[in-house]
Amino acid sequence: MTTFAKAVREYEKLCEQHDVPQETVLAYLVELSQLERYNLYMHYDDEMPKDMEELFDAGMKRILNQEPMGHVLGYSWFYGYKMIVNEDVLIPRVETEELCAQVLMRMDHYFKDLDVIHTADIGTGSGAIAITVAKEEDKVDMIATDISVDALKTAKENALNNEAKISFMAGDMVKPLIEQGVKLDVLISNPPYIPQEEEMETSVVDFEPHVALFGGNDGLFFYRSIFEDCSKVLKDKAFMAFEMGWDQRERMSALVEEYLPNDTYEFVQDINGKDRMLFVYHNLEKWEK
Ligand code: SAM
Ligand code: GLN
Repeated sequence: MTTFAKAVREYEKLCEQHDVPQETVLAYLVELSQLERYNLYMHYDDEMPKDMEELFDAGMKRILNQEPMGHVLGYSWFYGYKMIVNEDVLIPRVETEELCAQVLMRMDHYFKDLDVIHTADIGTGSGAIAITVAKEEDKVDMIATDISVDALKTAKENALNNEAKISFMAGDMVKPLIEQGVKLDVLISNPPYIPQEEEMETSVVDFEPHVALFGGNDGLFFYRSIFEDCSKVLKDKAFMAFEMGWDQRERMSALVEEYLPNDTYEFVQDINGKDRMLFVYHNLEKWEK
């Protein structure tokens, strides 16, 4: 028998010892108890129901073992949408929500006169980007691709649960789009960009699919692939939006200038002030907000 307060305090202490962020305890309990944080505080000194205590103990045991909370719950939240996550997909990150917001603003700016905005999300994983952009902008016609057929299975389930209309294609980067003769106004991708040899946290490297993480020796393998092929799938006027590693700005600039010398581009920082997004403009004026 324990109270909410006591259980939280105990697990926060254990988190510290196991090198797990302490915020995880409350975040997990909020999901489990289905109470708003505010209500949870109101009940803080109440006894925890027995069945919840058992679930909480079992879940916290996995979390202390470095397993991501998303895997323990079986879902994760992205842009207010619930996404099933499992060992086949990357758990969508908060930084990627910013990419979606930046894409939506640019769609408004460049393409408000179009009836349909043909868009693709390359390497869709859980489907987080494709679903969010399709839900938030009615004019979007969305194609989502991935090389992992298992990831696509989860993405399809997420699209169905969130009532998002998306066409899915399996294959290597933009190759399936070329084969189908697709022409895009907007190409979005958060490809794997971690350099092969980089040391990473256990919760990521032991539990998330490596096909979603590693982008060759310098982490840039998949950007090269897209830059090489993009002219075959972009319309005359189009833009591309990428997530990138915070320390890749210089090498990304060099890459864009090498592969796409006639396009303009800009880097956008995330809320932590890190270079996190790259936008490439194809026959479009750079957007000066
Ligand atoms: N878009 C999701 C997100 O932002 O949360 C997942 C991004 S994850 C970093 C990269 C995704 O690219 C993974 O789902 C992985 O399976 C996929 N991928 C890896 N290699 C690929 C390839 N050659 N062609 C297409 N997709 C690939
Ligand atoms: N941001 C993810 C991480 O650091 C990696 C995502 C990616 O490679 N695109 O775990």
